Amino acid sequence: MRVVTSEERVETRGHTDILDITPRVQAAVSKAGIADGLAVAFVPGSTASITTIEDEPGLHADLRAALERLAPEGAAYQHDRRWGDGNGYAHVRAAVLGPSVAVPIQGGRLMLGTWQQIVLVDFDNRPRTRRVVIQVIGE
Ligand code: ZN
Repeated sequence: MRVVTSEERVETRGHTDILDITPRVQAAVSKAGIADGLAVAFVPGSTASITTIEDEPGLHADLRAALERLAPEGAAYQHDRRWGDGNGYAHVRAAVLGPSVAVPIQGGRLMLGTWQQIVLVDFDNRPRTRRVVIQVIGE
């Protein structure tokens, strides 16, 4: 068994920016030369998430609207009162969606559904350069 770890840098606009990173994760799997195993994509930081969704504009709007109902950007947060950085909503959204996904690999390919893409979602209240850690485990 082998473990191959790599990193990608992704420029985001913040404010629940949703970016398809599937090609980057698949490229890391191909480059790792692992045919069967597991790929983990993880974003360090507590105001961004990685999840899967059908990557189309309607669902981007729907996900943003659902998260706005769950943790509205303009609501009052204890975090903002304590730290004054105004991104309490972003931390709550990131905690709910989580920082990573794990996708099985078979025959060197991610076993995603046809309409299922891996997306980085940046909730912070400013543009960011995000590191995405991709760890490929298998043989
Ligand atoms: Zn904060």
